[in-house]
Amino acid sequence: MDDRLFRTAMGKFATGVTVITTEVDGEAFGMTANAFMSVSLDPKLVLISVGKKAKMHERLKKSKKYAVNILTKEQEKLSMLFAGQLKEEFEVDFGRIQDLPIIDGALVNITCHVDKEVEAGDHTLFIGKVTHIQMNDGSPLMFFSGKYREMKEEPSEIQSI
Ligand code: FAD
Repeated sequence: MDDRLFRTAMGKFATGVTVITTEVDGEAFGMTANAFMSVSLDPKLVLISVGKKAKMHERLKKSKKYAVNILTKEQEKLSMLFAGQLKEEFEVDFGRIQDLPIIDGALVNITCHVDKEVEAGDHTLFIGKVTHIQMNDGSPLMFFSGKYREMKEEPSEIQSI
């Protein structure tokens, strides 16, 4: 099957956008990712899929922990920075939850310790056991068909089901 067909078809699945953050030898790193999902309620597990060629892959293997930061629509520039898409990079002041750097002002910060690593073709699935969750009000940054999007309706406040 043609790679482009596969990419184009997968891009039709509208997602939010996250930045995965971790820390190695006291240094904070981030990577933009939309291959994120909730996996299990008991225990609380989430999953991210990271390309083996990404520097984040080696970093996660070392640190064994990560935070998933779900971006707001105002954080598109951060998404571009951590995807390596900006010509002019800039310094980021990371926040902190427990033993992990986080993106301040994100819609949600989820900190995890790696529970399992599953090899899947040219990616590795890092299944994380959730250690802490922090939520803020706001509207999500979204990604569909290779472009950033915004929700039409503004969610008014944090709601739990
Ligand atoms: P680097 O190249 O080291 O980092 C990426 C960028 O982040 C660089 O520009 C770097 O300067 C910057 N950066 C890192 N740390 C810091 C810091 N502390 N301060 C300031 N800047 C910093 N790839 C996947 O594997 N899985 C996915 O699910 C996925 N989803 C994506 C979704 C979207 C919407 C986009 C746009 C890209 C996605 N990618 C995904 C691709 C991935 O984001 C890029 O391939 C990324 O460049 C890989 O980064 P790296 O780990 O190799 O790290």
